[in-house]
Amino acid sequence: MKTFNEFSRRDFLRAGAIAAGALALGNPLSLFAAKPGKKLGIALVGLGYYSTGQLGPALQHTQNCYLAGIVTGHPAKAAEWSKRYNIPQKNIYNYETFDQIKNNPDIDIIYVVLPVSMHKEYTIRAAQAGKHVICEKPMALNAGECRDMIAAVKKAGRLLSIGYRLHFEPHTMEIMRLGQKQIYGKVKSIDTGNGFTYRGDPNAWRLKKAMAGGGGLMDMGIYSIQGTRYTLGLEPIAVKARQEKTRPELFKEVDETIYWELEFPGGFVSTGKSSYNNDWSYLHVEAERGKFGLGPAFGYGGIDGYTPEGQMPFPQIVQQAAQMDDFANCVVQNKQSRVPGEEGLKDMKVVDAIYRSLESGKKENI
Ligand code: NAD
Repeated sequence: MKTFNEFSRRDFLRAGAIAAGALALGNPLSLFAAKPGKKLGIALVGLGYYSTGQLGPALQHTQNCYLAGIVTGHPAKAAEWSKRYNIPQKNIYNYETFDQIKNNPDIDIIYVVLPVSMHKEYTIRAAQAGKHVICEKPMALNAGECRDMIAAVKKAGRLLSIGYRLHFEPHTMEIMRLGQKQIYGKVKSIDTGNGFTYRGDPNAWRLKKAMAGGGGLMDMGIYSIQGTRYTLGLEPIAVKARQEKTRPELFKEVDETIYWELEFPGGFVSTGKSSYNNDWSYLHVEAERGKFGLGPAFGYGGIDGYTPEGQMPFPQIVQQAAQMDDFANCVVQNKQSRVPGEEGLKDMKVVDAIYRSLESGKKENI
């Protein structure tokens, strides 16, 4: 058995190298080195909050890929991005010209950063244009759409990955190791929550069921569900959920706060919650020989972790840079990402079952 203090040098170097690769521009020792001299071109589709605040800047830290193109419906944004990131006119598309990307050899990967209801269509069109695809979370409106996306990308002979940046984050990777390898013994309980207090536009797509699929559960709860899955390394079989609405005038169409109990094979039951009305970001695990966990657990503004030995000593990294570099490397090596479409589907099956449980008031199989 290996405790945190005995955490192997190889593991530590691995986590450190991810950080260094993401943070140090031009670091030739990057773990994710692709073909020497050839960075893959990424085109971002949808230049909203996440592309502007995170993905565009993160692509200035990547080793294996670069920001080659954009797809936007707003000419003013196109001009601004073109100037800021030196993107040539020939690599700028709008939603009408999107499919012409197939003729553009500069673009290897299309990253779909749109409202959830558009994920399926643009992922499939991107693959049909011959490009590899990263699609943001939640993968789609429901598990059925996820299956269609996986099948279409496979048929096109391309790779699909979901924007699950935490799988490349050192504290999170350590939690996976501690839980799955039972470093502190069998896991006895898991409690996790993710949410924020919604203060945005009351007319935004996030509050419209047709565009978002749901509320706090789809947007934030997906992380708590996944956190439980990657701590245990198991797939849940059933779920019982209940919801609470304190601001029904705002959350007319989508869920505000949901609490659930997730059942795993062998009878283990975890607790989880999601919200658009509470600031939560934690994952607490109790194992036979001690407690470990994360808090903040799911954001990109800094992750902290603890074990019975104390605080985890890992660096903060540019998660999205590590995530995109890894996918570019997968494309070069023609291998599946550690967060393929199937990983998005697994989470959406749980989400679908939680919504079914809210409807039926009963435990639902996943
Ligand atoms: P946003 O509303 O800020 O941006 C959405 C973009 O889509 C805008 O540029 C908008 O112009 C464009 N768009 C195109 N057609 C549209 C239409 N018909 N209606 C509305 N917008 C349209 O949203 P965001 O916060 O950038 O989220 C985009 C995706 O990224 C979502 O799937 C979200 O869950 C995901 N996201 C992921 C993370 C993460 O940490 N991985 C963080 C934030 C957002």
